Amino acid sequence: MRLKRLRLTGFKSFVDPADLRIEPGLTGVVGPNGCGKSNLLEALRWTMGENSARSMRGAGMEDVIFAGTATRPPRDFAEVSLLAERDGPDGAEESEIVRRIERGAGSAYRIDGRDVRARDVHLLFADAATGPHSPALVSQNRIGAVIAARPTERRAMLEEAAGIAGLHVRRRDAEAR
Ligand code: ATP
Ligand code: MG
Repeated sequence: MRLKRLRLTGFKSFVDPADLRIEPGLTGVVGPNGCGKSNLLEALRWTMGENSARSMRGAGMEDVIFAGTATRPPRDFAEVSLLAERDGPDGAEESEIVRRIERGAGSAYRIDGRDVRARDVHLLFADAATGPHSPALVSQNRIGAVIAARPTERRAMLEEAAGIAGLHVRRRDAEAR
């Protein structure tokens, strides 16, 4: 799967709509402290289904919504759209994954304009061997974490890289039935 574009509205410090083209190859984000580098990576993870508020550095999930500044009022929703491309039987296929959260109303997902469950988004990325915990998304503290990982954690990283993470999700589903 290739990530092609990220669009943010009202997400953390990105109060105004921001549009980011992701070029092929390795992408690095640089800029002064506090400019929003980590927020960008968190937006990407959030759209892929991240549900741990703590890993998004918040107390609750609504903390991803722009909270206001001295000069700008807070927003009541945040929305992030991710355009992804995959190789299908008839060539490259694009999908737009959108996650939106409103104060007091929780969050919802859409794939190509259709309302879907969180699980559908989870499976889409798991089948493509990527997702919010993909080893392809490297945050500032991640490099040390890879080095210090326990063998079971490292196995999960290898399984994701090998593209079999989707099988585990389906097995857990089957076992739960
Ligand atoms: P560093 O180089 O220090 O790691 P960074 O570029 O990664 O910095 P971020 O952590 O992405 O910066 O952004 C921090 C900024 O985002 C802070 O100014 C913080 O106030 C702002 N911020 C975080 N959450 C919100 C929110 N919900 N509403 C408004 N601003 C927010
Ligand atoms: Mg940072």
